[in-house]
Amino acid sequence: MKLGAIEAGGTKFVCGIGNEQGEIFDRVSFPTTTPEETMEQVIRYFKEQDVEAIGVGSFGPVDLNKNSSTYGYITTTPKPYWNQYPLLGELQKHVNVPLGFDTDVNAAALGEAEWGAAKGLASCVYVTIGTGVGAGALVEGKLLHGLLHPEMGHILIKRHPEDHFEGRCPYHRDCLEGMAAGPAIEQRWGKKGFELEQTDKVWEFEAYYVAQAVTNLVYMLSPEKIILGGGVMKQKQLFPLIRGHVRDMLNGYVQKREVAEGIDDYIVPPGLGDNAGLSGALVLAKQELERA
Ligand code: ADP
Ligand code: ZN
Repeated sequence: MKLGAIEAGGTKFVCGIGNEQGEIFDRVSFPTTTPEETMEQVIRYFKEQDVEAIGVGSFGPVDLNKNSSTYGYITTTPKPYWNQYPLLGELQKHVNVPLGFDTDVNAAALGEAEWGAAKGLASCVYVTIGTGVGAGALVEGKLLHGLLHPEMGHILIKRHPEDHFEGRCPYHRDCLEGMAAGPAIEQRWGKKGFELEQTDKVWEFEAYYVAQAVTNLVYMLSPEKIILGGGVMKQKQLFPLIRGHVRDMLNGYVQKREVAEGIDDYIVPPGLGDNAGLSGALVLAKQELERA
């Protein structure tokens, strides 16, 4: 089965060709500029490939409701040019195959559950900490959508007592994304994350915030695995710090082996590395083909 996959991100669109076993044969990337420019390249790429279906995991907010007149749109994004953009419709005009569609983070959660760190599990959460913070959830084998789709990057968190950074979310100021996404780290410390490796306090604050999100996820969704990805999580020293805080915050309340003794295996990096989203988009393609 030859399947197409798109990871539509705010910085770049990653397109790939793969199959229903999660093998990826080709992978290209186009910068996210204007919809016209970016989509022209995406469409040209897939026109030269004879795929049976394409899965799209997109930055958002997006409309995932198939009964809605704006299904497949990127909706209220502050990203210039992409507000109310009919991503799926534009693609469908040029490629006549079934199209699967979900958020980028839901796709990543799905890919990880199919072939990655959460393989074989019916529930997991994938959190990305990059330019923004977002999370996708697989609950009892199904991706969670609900009213819109979860926007877990904007949850409210408690401040670190020594952190005086005001926060930079345009909607909520000091929500999780406003305090812990890559740009927040840069603004707080005046340097990019990867230049700050030696500074303990940087990662101490970061771990404290991410751990709160993880702790809340444990309580709210009870996932069997929590996967932390995105550029900021390339700082591997964050993992033990986060796990330590989560253990302290849970304070023995959740008495399950996975959390109590197996936390190193419970809060993990993506098993598929940077291919989680693209792999998940392959699953979305496969599922759409089965439905068609
Ligand atoms: P995006 O969220 O746009 O898809 P990324 O997940 O790569 O892309 O996130 C980009 C953000 O992550 C930037 O703010 C960048 O500074 C930060 N980042 C990227 N690599 C690293 C790293 N090795 N260490 C710390 N921060 C990083
Ligand atoms: Zn916010």
